[in-house]
Amino acid sequence: MKILITGGAGFIGSHLCRRLLSEGHEVLCVDNFFTGNKSNILDLMENKHFEVMRHDVTFPLYVEVNQIYNLACPASPVHYQFDPVQTTKTSVHGAINMLGLAKRTRARILQASTSEVYGDPEVHPQPESYWGRVNPIGIRSCYDEGKRCAETLFFDYYRQHQVDIRVVRIFNTYGPNMHPNDGRVVSNFIVQALQNKDITIYGDGSQTRSFQYVDDVVEGMVRMMNTEHIIGPVNLGNPGEFTIKQLAEKVLSMIPESTSKIVYEPLPQDDPKQRQPEISIAKKELGWEPKIALEEGLGKTIEYFRHIV
Ligand code: NAD
Ligand code: UDP
Repeated sequence: MKILITGGAGFIGSHLCRRLLSEGHEVLCVDNFFTGNKSNILDLMENKHFEVMRHDVTFPLYVEVNQIYNLACPASPVHYQFDPVQTTKTSVHGAINMLGLAKRTRARILQASTSEVYGDPEVHPQPESYWGRVNPIGIRSCYDEGKRCAETLFFDYYRQHQVDIRVVRIFNTYGPNMHPNDGRVVSNFIVQALQNKDITIYGDGSQTRSFQYVDDVVEGMVRMMNTEHIIGPVNLGNPGEFTIKQLAEKVLSMIPESTSKIVYEPLPQDDPKQRQPEISIAKKELGWEPKIALEEGLGKTIEYFRHIV
């Protein structure tokens, strides 16, 4: 198959490119390199089944493909808040353009949505049926509401134009190919520990997240794309829930030579207090569940960052 991956030079996208090429597909990676990096896909450039196109998904795209994975969008709060108007445009105009492409080519299209659609949740853990609690005017809204609107567009193109959609809601994911200055908590803590800099916990560190290793999410996305009987939304995340303080302590214990100390900084506005995926739909419908526990995944990620920082 000829498969388009938007945001293919980013963290998750680059792993997805590699996975789909290994299955023998033709992969077209479309990226504007805002947060993505050529070094993430450098080893793929020689592959004759791989093609890269510099393009911004807020503009229309005319290509012929059989499947589309729509990942284009900065995912780290630091990056999506850098140019919030562009973030919303990327999610909303990007979804309209890619859905239009899917409609014309009759390609199946999968949206990389997010646990952020649940906002700062009152329901715990979060099932797909929960409508969420998102502040529509806060500093995270450009991302959260952009992704919510993209989901709306996916379901309206499905109902109105019979576009063949799939929607997954991805929870916090980490692993090799994260940008060292990405600003997300796992990469921050590892890079800080390796450089003997202060480990910056925002707030008192009691807020929780559930961390999923990148290979697990890629497996879930490919299964969802190739399943016939459900369109989603389906949560993809690791139910193992940790406080941010526990994460900091775990990272430090796994880099014993580090002289870093934990420091506390103000909690950013609207930072969700807790997050844990309810994954029974993914288990039942996709036969999927995460295989890589936090310690194992952190080990691989620390190895990666040791080579690049
Ligand atoms: P990332 O920032 O590493 O990758 C995003 C990619 O999209 C980058 O390569 C970037 O250059 C590209 N991009 C941004 N705006 C674009 C535009 N207008 N046109 C073309 N390309 C553009 O982030 P990631 O962690 O790999 O996330 C990939 C997708 O998965 C995103 O849609 C994100 O919202 C979603 N997601 C990620 C997580 C996570 O924890 N990593 C969680 C939930 C959802
Ligand atoms: N966080 C932190 N120190 C950092 C970066 C993040 O304490 O250096 C916290 C952040 O406030 C949030 C959690 O870690 O509570 C996860 O942040 P991240 O940006 O990785 O993802 P998101 O908030 O989007 O889940």
